[in-house]
Amino acid sequence: MSKKLWSVFTDDMDHCYFTGTPYVHRHHIFYGSRRELSEKYGYVIPIASYLHEFGINSVHDNPNRGMDLQLKQMAQEHFESHHGTREDFIKIFGRSWM
Ligand SMILES: [Zn+2]
Repeated sequence: MSKKLWSVFTDDMDHCYFTGTPYVHRHHIFYGSRRELSEKYGYVIPIASYLHEFGINSVHDNPNRGMDLQLKQMAQEHFESHHGTREDFIKIFGRSWM
């Protein structure tokens, strides 16, 4: 069964959130062991492939800084205004990015 990825940040999963380009990867804002949590909360975002990986300063090449940090902060802000406190966020996602 294929999962339908969705995002709290956009209804358009086919264009880059930042540039509008149609050639996108769907990035899990919290990846690795927290990938499933990203899917559960909708912390998935369509971004241009070069912003996603392999490029200098792309999300996966510059972890916890730049765009990766920006996206994690966006997700944390969303969580704290829709789901719970910062403490709750840390319990679920492991740490705060604020
Ligand atoms: Zn990714």
